[in-house]
Amino acid sequence: MTPPPSIIAIDGPAASGKSTIGKRLADSLGYLFFDTGVMYRAVTWLALQQRINIHDEGAVTRLTEETHIEVAPASQSDGRACDVHIEGRDITWEVRAPQVEAQVSVVSAYAGVRSALSQQQRRIGQRGKVVMVGRDIGTVVLPEADLKIYLDASAEERSRRRYEEILARGGEADYEEILAKVRERDRIDSTRAVAPLRPAEDAILIHSDGMRAEDVFQQVLILCNG
Ligand code: C5P
Repeated sequence: MTPPPSIIAIDGPAASGKSTIGKRLADSLGYLFFDTGVMYRAVTWLALQQRINIHDEGAVTRLTEETHIEVAPASQSDGRACDVHIEGRDITWEVRAPQVEAQVSVVSAYAGVRSALSQQQRRIGQRGKVVMVGRDIGTVVLPEADLKIYLDASAEERSRRRYEEILARGGEADYEEILAKVRERDRIDSTRAVAPLRPAEDAILIHSDGMRAEDVFQQVLILCNG
């Protein structure tokens, strides 16, 4: 039997299920799961925390270059896919805050921020036995990945999933508001000048409208097993 691919890249838009599928896949293969989105979120969180103007590209870039963001396997089973630390502080849940989500696409469009973070991601990815998820893993960070998957779904389906996730956790949500935010993030992520969201030429596309998470996972497993 041929061994599974060592470097697996999963890209796709917001709330397309990349993290759920990627984490399950990494666990089943005994690989590292690395969610690159948390790094962009961590920088955004820190900039907001330090009251740095998000629209000041130079200041946000300097902050990124000076900060060590640590992404590690989950240390607690509270629903997290991995741990995120900045200067010893656990900010795993803080980076999910709506204020961070509203600004992260502005921060991630800055070339200097992308270059600093993608270098770190590349170093980790090149060690192999990794499932790395994001927007530009197959195109920019690890173009040599052995398997590239692009996970897509309509904005309506992704927003509905996000909405149901929040309700299931006992929270309150407004579907129309989620849909508007998802569309806005898609727009910024796919029209930015540097590393825009798009499938790599050799990526395998999975459009998951109407599919259960289990079906998507099984399809991905088949791809891994050749
Ligand atoms: O995947 P997640 O929704 O956590 O990503 C948050 C944001 O980080 C995205 O909307 C995108 O702007 C940015 N991102 C990126 N490149 C990646 C991963 C995330 O630009 N590889």
